[in-house]
Amino acid sequence: MNQNNTPKFAIVGAGTAGLAAAILLAQQHIHVTIFEKAHALEPVGAGLLLQPSGLAVFEHLGVLEDALKLGALVTGLEGQLANGFKLVDSHYVQAHPDFYGLGIHRATLCHVLEKKCHEYAELITWHMNTDIERLNESSHEIRVIGTQHQEYFEDVFDHVIIANGARSRLRPRQWVKVDQAYPWGAKWTIVPECLTLDTQILHQFYDRAKIMMGILPTGAIPNQPQQRLSSIFWSLPTNQLESFLPDQHARSEWLKEISQRWKPAADWLEQVITNPEEKQQWLSANYRDVVLSKFGEGRIGIIGDAAHAMSPQLGQGANMALLDAWALGQAVRHARDNQTIDRVKLWQHYHQHRKSSTDFYQFLSRLLTPLYQSDLWWAGTLRDFSFSWMYRIPYFRKEMAITVTGLKSGMFSQMKYQDIAHSSLNRKK
Ligand SMILES: Cc1cc2nc3c(=O)[nH]c(=O)nc-3n(C[C@H](O)[C@H](O)[C@H](O)COP(=O)(O)OP(=O)(O)OC[C@H]3O[C@@H](n4cnc5c(N)ncnc54)[C@H](O)[C@@H]3O)c2cc1C
Repeated sequence: MNQNNTPKFAIVGAGTAGLAAAILLAQQHIHVTIFEKAHALEPVGAGLLLQPSGLAVFEHLGVLEDALKLGALVTGLEGQLANGFKLVDSHYVQAHPDFYGLGIHRATLCHVLEKKCHEYAELITWHMNTDIERLNESSHEIRVIGTQHQEYFEDVFDHVIIANGARSRLRPRQWVKVDQAYPWGAKWTIVPECLTLDTQILHQFYDRAKIMMGILPTGAIPNQPQQRLSSIFWSLPTNQLESFLPDQHARSEWLKEISQRWKPAADWLEQVITNPEEKQQWLSANYRDVVLSKFGEGRIGIIGDAAHAMSPQLGQGANMALLDAWALGQAVRHARDNQTIDRVKLWQHYHQHRKSSTDFYQFLSRLLTPLYQSDLWWAGTLRDFSFSWMYRIPYFRKEMAITVTGLKSGMFSQMKYQDIAHSSLNRKK
């Protein structure tokens, strides 16, 4: 423990998980130091879908109102096959009459969380441009070691929370059961809002497991609040990501391919996707599958994508990161006795909240991903047959809607929105 006996936490990574965890610890008057390798929190990324689980954490953090101002309300997910058949038709009201999702730009999400962090300026210290490369744990402290502005750097803490994303190299090696790249990724771009299709729906389009496109309402970014946006994603094997739409001919062929299947979407894309020569910014997304045997022990905890990276098929990445941060806040509160944190209690409590839910979503994500993104000839047929059959049975229809909310805590159990949103904390403001 440090000199003035207040537990000192380091958080590595200022993404969704790291920023939310910093707020939740500061709300308990805990000193937090955030290490982020980027030199500033830049508006990189495209749209994310916040599910009711993530929104419950936003409410708990006191940032929901702010997020609602810029984000786009989403009432459901609809997925169409090439013949026009609506294979997926999942709406939040099927899970609960008050539920909805929020399409949000990653920059807006980080902005809302960063703004809240600034309310705790006396408790949160920032170290930008700091790449943490190694942790060194001993019985009485933990050392973070890396480079700051390209110079050697080290500092000492009581606890370190690893929140540095899917490609983390800080995970204790003996905890890692799986850490591998998915063979398929996606191209993303941001365009003005799609008004041709229902603006409150995440639209997906599938043809076998080889073609998948999504159009997600994304709301606005903080410095252009009037300009509403949509994100477009197009699924591809990772070895084709860099050569996507190299020239005008490729663009026309791509649009033709879409037009043969989904004409209204193609007509809209024709207007918003510029010629490749005009350098429209398409981001590449690569996904990893990471499974750990545990999320915390001793002075180290791992949250967010660093703990359980998965494919985005179920749209849970940012939501699971937020739930992790929330559970960490709850566990610290439970395990803390004045200035002492009982580390055994801490991680027991954390695993109780997060283990089975994470297992459930990871299992489902691994099961479903090849049905949407693969070269397997039978995958799309199996998906189309089983999904259309399942949607006819009210029990499965409801279970699918609940699964999308992010609130499942196991095959037959779920968390309650109110329990997360209104769980007690010593709030400062
Ligand atoms: C630049 C970027 C763009 C993204 N765009 C999208 C998108 O468009 N759509 C989507 O669905 N998801 C996107 N994601 C992923 C999405 O944000 C995460 O899946 C989700 O929010 C979980 O967040 P996380 O905090 O666990 O990880 P992340 O959001 O990945 O955050 C990890 C943070 O740790 C920092 N970091 C990494 N290594 C170190 C280190 N050694 N030392 C210090 N800091 C380090 C990174 O710079 C990053 O800020 C993006 C992630 C990033 C980093």
